[in-house]
Amino acid sequence: MTPEELVKKIQEEDIKLVDVRFVDLLGTWQHFTVPAHVITEEVFEEGLGFDGSSIRGWKSINESDMLVIPDAATAFVDPFTEVNTLNIICDIVDPITKEPYQRHPRAIAKKAEEYLKSTGIADIAFFGPELEFFIFDDVRFDVKSNTSYYSVDSIEGIWNSGKDEDPNLGYKIRHKEGYFPVPPADTLQDLRSEIVLELEKAGIEVEAHHHEVATAGQAEIDIKYAPLLQQADNVMKYKYLAKNVASMYGKTITFMPKPLAGDNGTGMHTHQSLWKDGKPLFAGNGYAGLSEIGLYYIGGILKHGKALAAFTNPTTISYKRLIPGFEAPINLAYSSRNRSAAIRIPMYSPSPKAKRIEVRFPDPTANPYLAFTAMLMAGLDGIINKIDPGEPLDKNIYDLPPEELARVNKMPASLEEALNELEKDYEFLLRGDVFTEDLIKTWIDYKRENEIKYVNSIPHPAEFYLYFDV
Ligand code: GLN
Ligand code: MG
Ligand code: MG
Ligand code: MG
Repeated sequence: MTPEELVKKIQEEDIKLVDVRFVDLLGTWQHFTVPAHVITEEVFEEGLGFDGSSIRGWKSINESDMLVIPDAATAFVDPFTEVNTLNIICDIVDPITKEPYQRHPRAIAKKAEEYLKSTGIADIAFFGPELEFFIFDDVRFDVKSNTSYYSVDSIEGIWNSGKDEDPNLGYKIRHKEGYFPVPPADTLQDLRSEIVLELEKAGIEVEAHHHEVATAGQAEIDIKYAPLLQQADNVMKYKYLAKNVASMYGKTITFMPKPLAGDNGTGMHTHQSLWKDGKPLFAGNGYAGLSEIGLYYIGGILKHGKALAAFTNPTTISYKRLIPGFEAPINLAYSSRNRSAAIRIPMYSPSPKAKRIEVRFPDPTANPYLAFTAMLMAGLDGIINKIDPGEPLDKNIYDLPPEELARVNKMPASLEEALNELEKDYEFLLRGDVFTEDLIKTWIDYKRENEIKYVNSIPHPAEFYLYFDV
């Protein structure tokens, strides 16, 4: 939709307010709202001013004036507001230089798409994220208290769906058998369906929804592949729509990678492929029907996997998901069969058009603009430097003998390790000025100072369990 068409739509559909939104460094939407008459065609050139100083990881107070420039193509009517409101995703520019703000993740995704074209390797990168999430009835925690707020015994108990006073109807999903019996065991059918309808109304095509493996209300809704920038926008819309539908059902959705000890975590497997002149570049005659380019792309992702984790698995709790036994990858390896490998090449689709790789380590706490871009840059580095991905691992990696397993490269075991790896390995991200050193440094510092230090300073319930009576 062009600015002209959008201004017309605002009038025709009697939109009263326009909500302008942008993503912060960490991947959360921020917004402010203007009366519809403010949105003229000029606004798409000149922007709207706001103070960027209080946005996490952004400008200091003395250089905080910024402009948002709405991107008309991203607009969707808000299904939840009482007042007829249109939401638009925006870019951020400096009011003086009119340059895109380099710490705005969306600017980085845009540069990645331009850079891809400039390489001549491909003209389009498709991303297909499989977002999983948990739906809970009731979430009780007190982040302000600096002591542990629940006992180890209740780690699972507090999340249980069904409040104490509800009748126990006995239709319970057995442990790790959430994938996927029909209702009444599956109590979240309508909620997922409702989210799907909202996604499609917002222009996001859905492939399927289903209950996921974890017992306590884990869900997945799969959206159709789309180009990098558009898909990152879609992930933001997805989270917004899913959380708000849940909220209307009196439920809560979390995308946190490991909310429950002892049950499956939450991933965001990300399918990827490159295309040029309308032709898929990953289909060929190599391993699992891949082309040489496809294999080099894998080589790049595996080579930079540890550094990538700082963007694809960017929270301290991301690493509580990446442990054996829960379908989450630990080893940086690839395979066509093996779901325990970090990269899988799906075989069920014989068409060359569907040939893609599935990167299984990302989780949905990733900022999609940064995570998709970082993976693309790693894959391109693989193609540019003809990085051999090595032998595929077609055995179940969890069952490998220890000496063989020791030779397989591993995902980082903690956010701290991932940030250290990124600090050593980020040249591949700087090609075409896609990432800036400033952004990478800001990211690392922010995560160390505000997340790792904070989490490390708080006594953990498991530490009470282990050490209380020492
Ligand atoms: N939840 C698993 C993960 O953490 C994936 C399960 C699946 O989709 N097969 O990645
Ligand atoms: Mg899936
Ligand atoms: Mg899944
Ligand atoms: Mg998958």
